[in-house]
Amino acid sequence: MAENRAEKTLQILRKTFTLPKRVTSNRNPFETLIVTIISQNTADRNTAKAFGKLSKRFKITPEVLANAQISQIEECLKVAGLYRNKAKTIKQTSKIILNKFLGDLKPILSLPFEEARKTLLQLPGVGPKTADVVLLFCAQKPTIPVDTHVNRVSKRLGLAPIEGDYEAVRESLQALYNPKDYLMLHILLILLGRNYCKANNPLCNQCPVNTLCPSKHILDNND
Ligand code: SF4
Repeated sequence: MAENRAEKTLQILRKTFTLPKRVTSNRNPFETLIVTIISQNTADRNTAKAFGKLSKRFKITPEVLANAQISQIEECLKVAGLYRNKAKTIKQTSKIILNKFLGDLKPILSLPFEEARKTLLQLPGVGPKTADVVLLFCAQKPTIPVDTHVNRVSKRLGLAPIEGDYEAVRESLQALYNPKDYLMLHILLILLGRNYCKANNPLCNQCPVNTLCPSKHILDNND
């Protein structure tokens, strides 16, 4: 039964990894939005460096970033790649949040889930993953963001359809788990992806969930 395997997988991952402390606290929605825009197609370390530079140079508020010079935002984001597009997007999004939503994302986040998601998706640079990250981490809404690790690992584990697109993977995972576990599952699948189920050369023989994984026999030659 897929449900049993899904539940056992979660139990093992919970015992294997320690969740980072900041995951459990509520995050600032605007900062989370900006970090997630910076993180698009960028390694975590470079995202952290770019956000660090940006927050040293500017107060991270819609008002400040909407009025910042684009060249100065670009300068901070250089390490993150696609920095020109990202700087433009951040400035545009900040302007819209400032003018249309009075500089506050909280009223959007207090809308019912689908409405809040639809509203966030209308902002420049906000795709499904960015919207879901903000909704899950800042408003505890019932959604599972599907980043590159969650996508790869859940498919290898047989928890999502192999050819599934973003929505298919998200819906498949959400159907298998209790909404109270969505945030933890999201983090744990990322940790599994980073530490064992790497894109190339997954460490199947050392993987804590290898007895539950239908892909082990296909991939463990590389171990
Ligand atoms: S057994 Fe291999 S393919 Fe399966 S989750 Fe672990 S590392 Fe990934």
